[in-house]
Amino acid sequence: MVKAIVGANWGDEGKGKITDMLAEQSDVVIRFQGGANAGHTIINDYGRFALHILPSGVFYPHITNVIGNGVALDIRKLADELDALTGQGVPAPNLIVSERAQILMPYHVLQDAYEEERLGGKAFGSTKSGIAPFYSDKYAKTGIQVCHLFDEPMLKERLGRAVELKNVLFEHLYHKPALDFDELYAQLLELRERIRPYVGDAVDFVHGALRQGKTVLLEGQLGSMKDPDLGIFPMTTSSHTLAGFGCVGAAVPPTSIQDVICVTKAYSSCVGSKTEPFISEVTGQAGDELRRRGGDKGEFGATTGRPRRVGWFDAVATRYGCMVQGATQVALTCLDVLGYLDEIPVCTGYEIDGKVTDVFPTTPALTRAKPVFETLPGWKCDILGCTDYDALPENAKQYVDFLEAHIGAPIRLVSTGPKRHEITRRETKL
Ligand code: GDP
Repeated sequence: MVKAIVGANWGDEGKGKITDMLAEQSDVVIRFQGGANAGHTIINDYGRFALHILPSGVFYPHITNVIGNGVALDIRKLADELDALTGQGVPAPNLIVSERAQILMPYHVLQDAYEEERLGGKAFGSTKSGIAPFYSDKYAKTGIQVCHLFDEPMLKERLGRAVELKNVLFEHLYHKPALDFDELYAQLLELRERIRPYVGDAVDFVHGALRQGKTVLLEGQLGSMKDPDLGIFPMTTSSHTLAGFGCVGAAVPPTSIQDVICVTKAYSSCVGSKTEPFISEVTGQAGDELRRRGGDKGEFGATTGRPRRVGWFDAVATRYGCMVQGATQVALTCLDVLGYLDEIPVCTGYEIDGKVTDVFPTTPALTRAKPVFETLPGWKCDILGCTDYDALPENAKQYVDFLEAHIGAPIRLVSTGPKRHEITRRETKL
């Protein structure tokens, strides 16, 4: 059976911790979309890690980790991350890199940076890791798959075609130096050697594992709001962040996904451009304090170090986020962070053109939305590391009940700290 762990919001919900925790009981962990443009933070006995491209099962020797065909594979970053892991004392992980995964090329990174430069003040706030040009090329069928690395005539032909197209853009639109085919080709052959031991038929492997009754975990990157179809377009990423895309990006049958664990934080955070609508945002001193206290080291991007925008819990966005993920259960993280507040506002509606709604709208309406808050009493104590839900203060439990009623999906896990075992299980009638 397949379980998916995905984000209900803008990403950074704490999926890494939940995946790391649930990986323990899994046989296979698969990354099925996105690239090295975001990071999962995992804190365990080996130390503190920000994994960008490796699946979160790499700390367990019994797990096979798979980089699925849906991923934007930056081979250099993958190899560096593997080196960093073993350098910190983690045993070499079991890893399969799908031969159907496509390669994120150095020119994708350049194109991403050039395009942001061209857009100037209207830039998307991209992490400049090449994700948008990569997926554009994939769907334009000019991408290069890992399997092409092992067929040199085909590799030459595909790279030649790509370079021809890129050079028109680079020289005439961006006024930048042209790409050198020979240099790129040599780089690819070098990178091929770095991943050779891991390349395999992930599709056959995954189907075999499912036939044998193994538990497969799909590890999502970012969250519902960043999905190019159902998110806040165009302030989205370029791959699908929804559990349903696991059927494509990890090649699992749709009917095999039995559990969709949607992760959401007890408050909101959002990275990206300042122009992105973020309705429940808290700014000023209150925002600075929430940002400083958030997560395990404050709300700063795991990949970029950029300060994240922070806000109160947005029940409108999260209800929608859980709905489009098809959440079978919700993991609420970072409840411990809110212990300093006397009162906690929750955004339960959007006022758009004078009308209040709890239905998440399209981007043009969203840009006109104003938050409607309801305020709950805080619990004013430290619950960090609590492992017994019943032992939580009454107001903390009431806060969780209130969120569950508004998002309409069962909150079964409530996380009380960044470490693997700092979690409580909650009974719910939903
Ligand atoms: P991901 O991309 O969804 O995995 O999220 P990130 O790892 O980027 O961001 C979540 C942050 O919150 C990280 O710094 C985690 O260590 C931290 N974190 C996760 N769960 C909890 C929790 O329950 N409490 C606290 N205080 N921090 C948490």
